[in-house]
Amino acid sequence: MDKSTREELRTHLVERRSELIREGDLRADPNRVDPSEQADEDEQPLNEMQQAIISRRNKVRSQELAGIDAALRRLKEEPDEYGRCVDCDEWIPLGRLKLLPWAQRCVQCESEHSGGSPTGHRRRHARDFID
Ligand SMILES: [Zn+2]
Repeated sequence: MDKSTREELRTHLVERRSELIREGDLRADPNRVDPSEQADEDEQPLNEMQQAIISRRNKVRSQELAGIDAALRRLKEEPDEYGRCVDCDEWIPLGRLKLLPWAQRCVQCESEHSGGSPTGHRRRHARDFID
């Protein structure tokens, strides 16, 4: 990978990072409601569901941030190794890195890595398959 491509990806990482930080944690406090509409018992299950959704989103977000930090660290400390799959040592295709500059694995290793997730049905995005 040449230096200007690396620089382009680094810029993308930095921008994405500040975007995530700007978003902040989504409010995960369902009890802060308008006092004029007192929550009655029936609303509780809905609130719990919303809270579960929000906390999952925050989790995804913090994982993405951690990935971005790792990628930026790698770019700084071992720039020549940036873009190499951490599992199989092959180069991650540039098309994938341009979409996911924080990717640490090639598509194949990524699917093996996440295949054993506890939920068993991880949602797939089309971009996971870009090669
Ligand atoms: Zn790999």
